[in-house]
Amino acid sequence: METSIQRPKALVLLSGGLDSLLATRIILDQDVDVEAVHFITPFYKGDCDSVSRFSRDFGIKLHVVFLGQEFLDIVANPPHGYGSQMNPCIDCRILMFRKAKELANKIGASFLVTGEVLDERPFSQRLRAMQLIEREAGLEGKILRPLSAKLLPPTEAERMGWVNREKLLAIRGKRRTPQIKLAAKYGIKNYPTPSGGCLLNDPAFARRVRDHLEHEGRLTLKDAILLMIGRHFRINGVKIIVGRNMDENNRLLAIAEQNQIPYLVVKEYKGPITLIMGETNPNIIEKAAAITVRYSDAPKNIPVNVLYRRKNGESEVTAIALNDEQINRLRI
Ligand code: SF4
Repeated sequence: METSIQRPKALVLLSGGLDSLLATRIILDQDVDVEAVHFITPFYKGDCDSVSRFSRDFGIKLHVVFLGQEFLDIVANPPHGYGSQMNPCIDCRILMFRKAKELANKIGASFLVTGEVLDERPFSQRLRAMQLIEREAGLEGKILRPLSAKLLPPTEAERMGWVNREKLLAIRGKRRTPQIKLAAKYGIKNYPTPSGGCLLNDPAFARRVRDHLEHEGRLTLKDAILLMIGRHFRINGVKIIVGRNMDENNRLLAIAEQNQIPYLVVKEYKGPITLIMGETNPNIIEKAAAITVRYSDAPKNIPVNVLYRRKNGESEVTAIALNDEQINRLRI
């Protein structure tokens, strides 16, 4: 990254959460140019519109970077392990910082800025984890964390006098009170709650990802899309995905047709599209049909006709809906 320049430029990692908004606001009070980068992953359900809106309000240029297969490879096999669920935060942060470093070099930014707060998150925001991430991303001393800077060794930006350390803060820990007070001071409103974000932190979704990796060993973009749609079941190693609403049914149908995946649909009643992913046999098809009936408008205590559609044609199976206990045993 550039180091000998007149007016330094900072690249802020802007997630859209309050901490990164405050970090951006604090750095804007210093005598530096600022641009921002916002990372999206297949499992990030954040609010891109609000990030764009805040960037506009701050008057800074925003770069949006999608992390696809590289990110999924990390989820499948994180060298530094997972957090409390399937969140490989340390390796994910290393990847984000490496990408941010590339972008910083391209736009002539001298240092990075993040909203990280010391000890706010047990896995990735402890001092040792932060230092490890910095080292592995090749960014030692180049990441300024305005919210906790006074508790951390001075970064290059402070040592070189590009930013005034006196104007930086010493926030530590999980309590959000200082950030909420600062937001009020700066007039920052309508920011997303900290819980809205990466699906990999969600225990139910993490269970799906874990199950997928146990059976498939790898994760593709197509897998990632399917993991986010429908109810998921496993019958003798075969994945069954059942749509929960019209939108999901339409998406599952399109995926089934594009990829020649066999699927089930109840014949005479409204009901879901059910994908069958893997080597099937009549017993698996019948159980999947019974799940399909369970989530359809068909009566639950009589045999119901279900269409089984696949590449080479269509056949019919008859099934009685599984009860809740049977369903729960198969649910992922
Ligand atoms: S919560 Fe998700 S997006 Fe955020 S660092 Fe962890 S893995 Fe990456």
